[in-house]
Parts: sequence; structure tokens; C-alpha cells
Amino acid sequence: MNEKILKAKRLLEKKDRLDLCFLPTPFYKLENMSKYLGINLYIKRDDFTGKNLFGGNKMRKLEYLLGKAKKQGCKYIFTYGATQSNHAMQTAAAALANGMTPVLYLSAIVEPKKNDLRSNFLLDKIFGARVYLVGVKDSESFQDVTNRSLLLGLKHIKKLERGKEKCYNIPMGGANHIGSTGFIKAFIELQEQLNSMKIDADYLYHATGSGGTLAGLAAGKKLINSNVKIHSIAVLDADKNYKNNVVCMANKSLSWIKSDLKVSKDDFSISRDYFAPGYECPNKKSTKAIKLLAQKEGLLVDPVYTAKALAGLIDHVKNGKIPKNSNVVFWHTGGATALFAEKQILGNLIKE
Ligand SMILES: *Cc1c(COP(=O)(O)O)cnc(C)c1O
Repeated sequence: MNEKILKAKRLLEKKDRLDLCFLPTPFYKLENMSKYLGINLYIKRDDFTGKNLFGGNKMRKLEYLLGKAKKQGCKYIFTYGATQSNHAMQTAAAALANGMTPVLYLSAIVEPKKNDLRSNFLLDKIFGARVYLVGVKDSESFQDVTNRSLLLGLKHIKKLERGKEKCYNIPMGGANHIGSTGFIKAFIELQEQLNSMKIDADYLYHATGSGGTLAGLAAGKKLINSNVKIHSIAVLDADKNYKNNVVCMANKSLSWIKSDLKVSKDDFSISRDYFAPGYECPNKKSTKAIKLLAQKEGLLVDPVYTAKALAGLIDHVKNGKIPKNSNVVFWHTGGATALFAEKQILGNLIKE
């Protein structure tokens, strides 16, 4: 495997990348949770990617996305998401630190209160990002409003380009083959940490939204021929093409770095049992997972993504999908700011 890691690293080194993160992120065993669950539970702390307090998985994607934007000499970085999007906030921070101007088109699925701005939306304003709010029309789905945001963004880009300004357009969640490459690199980083601790990981759990993180992990797993079972917990409903789209993204990343390996649908599995009632809506199990980790380890997961992934992991231990004594990696993808978001996103953590 070591030779495969070296080869993979050489492929990655050929790609433009900005140093946006503190890497490697910490990786260690959660002793109390391990005892409680009867497994060996390890955590990968991508909530610590940096460089401000609120890192997260998108910083890894942005290393390659903004690497490309910088190389092309772009001045404006456009991206999309919900008003509380972690991705949009991290894009704003990373763009500014590299002398580029962030332009955010944000869908108001949770309407921000003008005199009480919170969490990522507040941070976007502090960063001075150019923020355009896109209201949700009656009967419009999250996907509909996102598509409409994208059209508005593209129109804006055309206008700037007519004035000879260079713009770089990043899809929602940074989810394309370029962004996913950050998670190929991340998977190799994890494998090196596992190797140095002499651990064979049986399972890897994480939250999946746009699918970019999963695509990169699956591609990384293929590239170094790891046997870990990747299990992704969905945080939103998706159409039946979701898995295919992830496979396509993973394979596009692999061919982008000039590997001829291919990922298939069997390289990962997705569970859709933990996101209800919907994106940015907490449920009993996710709320319980936040409190459990906090009270066992003094650590925090966020209500929108990581708490749902952790709830899935805990459930899978309880129902035997994860056998006792397995070595399980929980990939903490960030999102802490959501703990200070609107009440409807946070849920009721205080009630007994
Ligand atoms: C975006 C995000 C995810 C999901 O990553 P995708 O690449 O969009 O699937 C998970 N956790 C947090 C905290 C996120 O912000």
C-alpha cells in the first residue's frame, strides 16, 4: 500500500493547490464513546481544517478550486448555498485570504431576521462578502431555488465578464471533480495516520450532502486500494441519480489527476434513514447524538450534518450493522456554527 500512497501523492502534486488548511487534521481514539458503544471509535477532526475558528470539509475542496481560480487570475469567486451554508462561509474566508472577492448567492430556506443575523450568515457579512439573498417562492423546492440562484449568479458573471473582469464559479458545496480532489488527498492523509498507529479501519462514517466529500473519499480509497467500508449518512433527500452522480464525480476526479482507476457503486453505501424531517431540520436521534458526544467527550457536532451522521453510526452499532469491536472512523466534517443558528435549525437541546 505504501507504494500506492507514494504514487497517489505524486499525481496530486501535479495539480494547482492553495495551502488553506492546517494539515494533517488531528486523528485519535474517543475512549469514552468507544467503551460506551463497544467498538473502537476514532475521530478525524476536519472541524479543525482552519484557518479561522470555523474550519470544515469545504476548506479541503477549496484548496484545489481556489488553486485553479488563482492560477487563472480570477478576481471574483461566485458560489451558492443556503443562508447558513458552511461552504459559502468557508469560500468567503478563503477567497479573501487570497486576495479574491467572494460573491454569494444564498437561498433563504430559513429566512434570516434582519436585526438578529446568526452564524454563517452573520460571518458572511462580517467578511464583507457580496451577499445576494434569494427568497424561496411558494412550492419551490430547495433544488428549485438553488437552480434559480445559479442562473442569477451566471447572469451576474456574464455582466462582469463583459467589463473584462475574471470570475470563477464554484457549484454549491464545491461539489465537482476539482473540489473532490481535496478528499482524495484527505483519504491518503487518514491512511497515513492509520498506518502510523498500526490500525486497520473497518468502517468510515461521514455526513453526505452535495456528495463531493464522498466522491473524493471513494476515489481515494480506490487509488490506494483500501478495504475500509465507507458509509455515508445523507442529510437531505435526493433523486435516484445521487449514487451515479457521486460515482461520476469520483471518476472525473481520478481522470483529472491522471489515474485510470474507476470507482463503482459498490465502493460505498448511503443511508437515508437519518435526515428526516429534512435538511436543516433536527430530529430526536440527531439531538440525542449531539448531547451524547458532548457529555461523554466534551466534543461538539453540529445539528445539520455531523449529528445526523453520528446518529446513524450509533444506530448501526445498536442494530449490529457495525459488529462489536470494529474499528470505526467518524469523519467530523465541521459545521460548529450551526449550534448558534436559528432555533429551527438547532432544535431543542435543553429540554430534558
Ligand atoms: C457540506 C458539509 C458536509 C457534506 O459534504 P458534501 O461534500 O457536501 O457531501 C458535511 N458536513 C458539514 C459540516 C458540511 O458543511
